[in-house]
Amino acid sequence: MVKLVVTFLGTSAAAPTAHRGLPAVAVRREGEVVLMDCGEGVQRRVLSESLGIGSDMTILITHLHGDHVTGLLGLLQTMSLAQRRKPLNLVGPEKLLKWLEITAELLHIGLTFPIRFSPAKPGVVLRTGGFRIRAARAAHSVEAFSYVVEEPGRPGIFYPEKAKSLGVPEGKLWSRLQKGRSITLGRRRVEPLEVTGPRRVGRKIGYSGDTRPSERLTRFFSGCDLLIFDSTFRDTDREKAVERKHSTSLEAAEFARKAKVRQLVLTHFSARYTSVSSLVREARRVFPNTIAASDGLSIDVAYPA
Ligand SMILES: [Zn+2]
Ligand SMILES: [Zn+2]
Repeated sequence: MVKLVVTFLGTSAAAPTAHRGLPAVAVRREGEVVLMDCGEGVQRRVLSESLGIGSDMTILITHLHGDHVTGLLGLLQTMSLAQRRKPLNLVGPEKLLKWLEITAELLHIGLTFPIRFSPAKPGVVLRTGGFRIRAARAAHSVEAFSYVVEEPGRPGIFYPEKAKSLGVPEGKLWSRLQKGRSITLGRRRVEPLEVTGPRRVGRKIGYSGDTRPSERLTRFFSGCDLLIFDSTFRDTDREKAVERKHSTSLEAAEFARKAKVRQLVLTHFSARYTSVSSLVREARRVFPNTIAASDGLSIDVAYPA
């Protein structure tokens, strides 16, 4: 079983608190890291969570609000001090690269590794070794994107009795069929589906960034195994959420129910709430499988049953 682990590095909105840093979430699978947003101070969390500054990494930036992006430069600088050579994938709004180039130049930061930049746009933005990354437009006060990070599908369950009954000898040919490839046995061709169950879909992680709920995003996040959603406000502060283009915890829960996701994680909490338990309570009334993110929280995302 391949592990897919989501770790929250920062869970506060706009300003940090004593216990919450600015937004950043890491997805890890087989040594590969996808980092979503880079709030200020993210590099310390990258170190404390042992994400590996030399690892295969893709960074996704949702939008150009300071709380989501100012940690990026420090992280890249530390990678260079560590003599990173491996290219780094970066995805975000078009102007992200401009900001990075200008600030790096003004601060005399030379990178020791290439950045492969892909501008965010609706649809598939990047395929890496272990993930397919899709983007959709979010509904925020500036151009903003939401992301879905998906692992590749897996071949179906292998049934040895079926292979035996077809006369397929154990060994290399079994392994070919298990991997979803057809084989030739004498004159007969054996298709993998004759000896395996249907192909299984990979796990899907959705990350909204800052947004109002929208129909478009409901379709985009449909069927996610884990949905990380903007929960800046409590429902009694809904007016503020509407005005500042964020969501309330109740709206996030209504959204999760409509999008039929497996689990909802609330994050990006306004610093005005010293405790987020009331936000979780109101969300759980609508969508019971809801938890609140906290800095350092790791979730091991299981395969769907
Ligand atoms: Zn924000
Ligand atoms: Zn924002």
